[in-house]
Amino acid sequence: MENELRVYNSLHRKKEIFKPIHEGHVGMYVCGPTVYSDVHLGNCRTFVSFDIIYRYLMYLGYKVRYVRNITDVGHLENDADTGEDKIAKRARLEQLEPMEVVQKYSNGFHDIMRMFNALEPSIEPRATGHILEQIEMVQEIIDNGYGYEKNGSVYFDTLKYAEDKKGNYGELSGRKIEELIAESRDDLKKQDEKKHPSDFAIWMKASPEHILRWNSPWSVGFPGWHLECSVMSTKYLGETFDIHGGGNDLKFPHHENEIAQNTASCGHGPCNYWLHANMLLMNGRKMSKSDGNTISPEELFTGESPHVSKGYSPMVVRFFMLQTHYSSTLDLTDEALQAAEKGYRRLIEANKSLAKLHNHAGPSAGKVDQDLNDLMDLAQAEMNDDFNTPKALGRIFELASKINSLKDGHLPMNEVSAETLERLEASYHAFVFDIFGLKDETGASGDDNSVLDGVMEFIIEMRTEARANKDWATSDKIRDKMKELNIQLKDGKDGTSWTVGE
Ligand code: AMP
Ligand code: ZN
Repeated sequence: MENELRVYNSLHRKKEIFKPIHEGHVGMYVCGPTVYSDVHLGNCRTFVSFDIIYRYLMYLGYKVRYVRNITDVGHLENDADTGEDKIAKRARLEQLEPMEVVQKYSNGFHDIMRMFNALEPSIEPRATGHILEQIEMVQEIIDNGYGYEKNGSVYFDTLKYAEDKKGNYGELSGRKIEELIAESRDDLKKQDEKKHPSDFAIWMKASPEHILRWNSPWSVGFPGWHLECSVMSTKYLGETFDIHGGGNDLKFPHHENEIAQNTASCGHGPCNYWLHANMLLMNGRKMSKSDGNTISPEELFTGESPHVSKGYSPMVVRFFMLQTHYSSTLDLTDEALQAAEKGYRRLIEANKSLAKLHNHAGPSAGKVDQDLNDLMDLAQAEMNDDFNTPKALGRIFELASKINSLKDGHLPMNEVSAETLERLEASYHAFVFDIFGLKDETGASGDDNSVLDGVMEFIIEMRTEARANKDWATSDKIRDKMKELNIQLKDGKDGTSWTVGE
């Protein structure tokens, strides 16, 4: 059984035991969204994946500083340092000030994250708020011999960096610099400012129409996209921190270039563990706006899309995401969402049943007691194995079945010790709500539910009394009336329980 947390480190392509730099503390940086349009569901999957990682680290008792940035400048339309800045382009199209674009889509992003019950990061820095620090890093890279200026723009010299074996360019993404150079011969002609086609911009001179611009020693311009993450991660988490995450489409060039920048400026990469979340697909194909194979979070929640038969609540979608490991692709289909809806309900219903078990606990431990404890240990072991949510969820479902059996009297409640019942309540709650981050959306929670619970308790008491008095007519009348109301009464060893439906 896995007692220690292991994480899949993309840099070394293997699972490693997680050891934080400072005992009891974790520094985690995740590349946030570029806020030039509504957040799409693929982005949400990545951020929900890291939300679960964040939550689990806290569950393990770590004090986590979670930094997730907002990209509000420097992300060009094309990875090869060409095209318009995404924010500036949207500002032009919508006739807005660039910061209005940033505010509008940051607000939208936060709203959606809240609906998914994702916790806010500890710090959410913006690229435009860290221009001075980015200029400083560019200067350090130049001073160390790995950056060169051409016509007011500054480029990172990938070939010199690779030749000096300063770092291992391509180690993260598996790309070879020779191939990169060969691949982009055509681009070289267009980008004659670069010494080698694999070089990338760390500072760009602004063209006259470019509105996002700042003074620098080289030109009035703006920072290259990769630079912000090198700068903001280390500013808030230190020169070396624990975990750097993002979607796996960012491995190259974004993260590869981040490692190169940090290494060129301070001698080593930024973090000990690189974690990458995999992509969201729909009906087996990459989710993409250009060919219509896409659905927005709102469309998914309301059901206003040809891709779904109805709307699914944010918690059902979150549950659906949990059913696949973060490093595997996740395929969104209507059938899978329908199944997730049932699964989510079962999980929440079992939590309600668990609350009702409280008073029936027996004093002696038996096999059931052992099984419950084993399942709780196993659920944690699955999470320790690189945050394996589908497997942990499987264990929690096994617990849910046991809870239902205990409630229905199919398993003997007197075999469960009071201590185990207490642990079960705490663990079940911790997994479902704190770690998986689900909320009870079934609509039967809160005051309404406690009123119903109270009424049902009273009715069951009346029926038990009638049965004790051999008043079968009253007892049957109560059962039949409840049936009419779609409430099933079940008589078990530990008394009568009730369920709505079936
Ligand atoms: P962006 O706003 O494009 O910079 O992306 C923000 C985050 O969402 C990054 O970590 C991306 O890797 C991630 N991301 C983008 N598209 C998808 C997708 N289809 N599935 C999962 N994650 C994605
Ligand atoms: Zn980044």
